[in-house]
Amino acid sequence: MKALIIVEEQVDFCEGGSLAVNGGVEVVKKTTEFLTENAGNYDLILATRDWHEPDNSNGGHISDSPDYVDTWPTHCVQGTPGAEYHPNLDTGFIQVHIIKGMGRSDYSGFQGVDLESGKSLDDILKVNGISQLDIIGIAEDHCVRATAIDGLDLGYKVRVFKDLTTPVTPGTGALEEVASKGGLII
Ligand SMILES: [Zn+2]
Repeated sequence: MKALIIVEEQVDFCEGGSLAVNGGVEVVKKTTEFLTENAGNYDLILATRDWHEPDNSNGGHISDSPDYVDTWPTHCVQGTPGAEYHPNLDTGFIQVHIIKGMGRSDYSGFQGVDLESGKSLDDILKVNGISQLDIIGIAEDHCVRATAIDGLDLGYKVRVFKDLTTPVTPGTGALEEVASKGGLII
């Protein structure tokens, strides 16, 4: 069984947001086109969202003087417009909504939980008999990378679609690293 994981296609990570990643809006547009054509090929479609607490640094993740490597400007605060899915993402296809980063510096979707049930991402995938993951979204060198590597470490077959992701910093070799651990880059 095969699942699609859409990583953090949120307002704050797209152009115009508080932590905008170049190419974010384009990735969202292509994701909706991809879903329209390919949703039927998946047994489960999930999306993750960064979902930070409003009144603290979330474990040092958010800083007034961010380095854009380990610390970041305020972004994706629970219940704010910036934390919502980008309006160009057709959320009608999403069956499971994973949230992560509640008071913590989470990068991998596997650190998150189902908004409805509180179950972990790994539990949701296992209950649904998923063995194969296709991973897309924002950002290639952080949350896509971390989610893909955790998926591989947990024994899933993982593919990342290069055209459906975009990095904060180009040239870090994030996808090469995923490939070196057994992931397939399409
Ligand atoms: Zn964050």
